[in-house]
Amino acid sequence: MAAKIKRGDTVMVMRGKDRGHVGKVKKVFPKAQRALVEGANIVKRHMRARSQTQPSGIIEMEAPIHISKLRLVCPNCGEPTRVGFRFEDDRKVRYCKKCDGVID
Ligand SMILES: [Zn+2]
Repeated sequence: MAAKIKRGDTVMVMRGKDRGHVGKVKKVFPKAQRALVEGANIVKRHMRARSQTQPSGIIEMEAPIHISKLRLVCPNCGEPTRVGFRFEDDRKVRYCKKCDGVID
């Protein structure tokens, strides 16, 4: 199965508290159908001090977002779009359902 969202893609968050946020995909978890998006879905973790050099405090990190909540921002037309697949020269490519441009 080909992935609709890949690492390095620019995506927009469509749902949740970060709706409208645009960021780059840092990592994809294909089995979980989730992706880490730069600056989106930030969660705070309370860390207990482990040593003098690692003080306690709150660290912020991105949590993976389900890809159904993401739309790829098309590099051709700049719109958040759904992705389709088609064959070109026997190669499966992604295309933008808005402008019909090939994305890969
Ligand atoms: Zn497009």
